[in-house]
Amino acid sequence: MDKDLLWKTVLGEIELSVSKGNYVTWFKNTCLVSADGDQVVVGVPNVFIQNQLEKRFQGLLVEIIQKNGVANPQIRFKNMPVQQPKRDDDVVVLTQEQRGGGNQSSPRAVDGITHSYRAGINSRYTFDSFVVGGSNELAYAACQGVAANPGSKYNPLFLYGGVGIGKTHLIQAVGNEIIKNDPSKQIVYISTEQFVQEFLDAIRYKKNTDFAGYYRGADVLIVDDIQFIAGKEKTQEEFFHTFNALHQANKQIIMSSDRHPSDIPTLSERLQSRFGWGMAIDMYAPDFETRCAIISQKSSASGFDFSPELVEYLAGVIKNNIRELEGIINQIVAFCEMRDIEPSVDIAKALFGKLGGRPRHFSPKRIIDVVANRYSVSVEDIMSPKRDKEIVFPRHIAMFLLRDELHLSFPKIAVALGRKDHTTAMHSVEKISRELSLDPRLKSEVAEIRGML
Ligand code: ADP
Ligand code: MG
Repeated sequence: MDKDLLWKTVLGEIELSVSKGNYVTWFKNTCLVSADGDQVVVGVPNVFIQNQLEKRFQGLLVEIIQKNGVANPQIRFKNMPVQQPKRDDDVVVLTQEQRGGGNQSSPRAVDGITHSYRAGINSRYTFDSFVVGGSNELAYAACQGVAANPGSKYNPLFLYGGVGIGKTHLIQAVGNEIIKNDPSKQIVYISTEQFVQEFLDAIRYKKNTDFAGYYRGADVLIVDDIQFIAGKEKTQEEFFHTFNALHQANKQIIMSSDRHPSDIPTLSERLQSRFGWGMAIDMYAPDFETRCAIISQKSSASGFDFSPELVEYLAGVIKNNIRELEGIINQIVAFCEMRDIEPSVDIAKALFGKLGGRPRHFSPKRIIDVVANRYSVSVEDIMSPKRDKEIVFPRHIAMFLLRDELHLSFPKIAVALGRKDHTTAMHSVEKISRELSLDPRLKSEVAEIRGML
């Protein structure tokens, strides 16, 4: 195999077996320098990343390189400048082919790929790695019930709740569990945005029947963030037929959403009623004890046992979003590892002093002015309905800062920016929080704006 292709394949598989934060931090900027017999040389941007890869990920690297045709690989690392990828390619888009669907309506026909339908599911998202507490125990139990008896108990299963509280983790855990019990099961996991896109492509390239066949051939269909189907009439119609076909055949359907089906605007009535046929479960942000348990679990997994004081400190400052919590744990670990010191509350405070601080005192207008100024757009444009990329991005940043600095509610953020619908504010804040944990450049941009406030 060509070395670039080999590395691309290896990275693709690693991406599905580690957390996104870990992938972006440790693997994304690596390359394959050479693969000569069993001698494999991996290019890394600095010695810190090299240490991490040696210490924490050597086994995984060996396993995956071996799986891709190099027997007993002997890995060496080489420090070298590795080209920085563009910001956009953080987004993982799995093509039909990567997912194993190809252009064929029956992926079983794809030679040599065993669980072609399974691709897209992260093997890290299991029931075992999920910490159960009051906020999620009902959802957890329902997911276990579905995994034990797919297609019979709660169909569809619909999980809803805020950002970063474990919806994706749980619905993928169902997929992983079902495959574990019966590897012949065809599991399809898809984000709604991807479903919409593929559907449009299918129409454009006249592949509607392949598209329909692929989804209707599933034993378990898992659709993430179904709220994004709002306003997409044609996709809703297509999904309606897929839903019916699967449901009638007693195939399991699992969905997640940021809100209850009846609160998804412009969701057709027939879909709304179908989504309510099975079981809809509300998930909440985890309580303090659960957050502590999650922090302990995640810190030990990264090779550090945080002290009880540090665990409690972090659980006290990050209350809603586990993804954010993971980002912070990763940063503390990275910071301490690089300096060979033990993580402590003081270090956490020094790194994230502002966390959980009180809202600062300046007006929403001040934030909007400063953001507009930083990105050289006018305040009028930010407040306008315009959707140009150069304007939408600063608008998202302004929404994020209104939330983060002033702790405004989403409806208030919407009002501050002259908007009617507060869900946009929710999505924007979510989007920026997510990107901040992954993108150091964006992080310094936002820090700079905070400094200007
Ligand atoms: P959502 O889909 O609700 O936005 P995710 O499922 O993507 O949230 O969760 C965000 C991150 O937090 C994931 O990496 C997930 O593994 C982790 N996480 C969330 N809840 C838990 C939990 N109860 N136990 C362990 N990890 C969790
Ligand atoms: Mg999710």
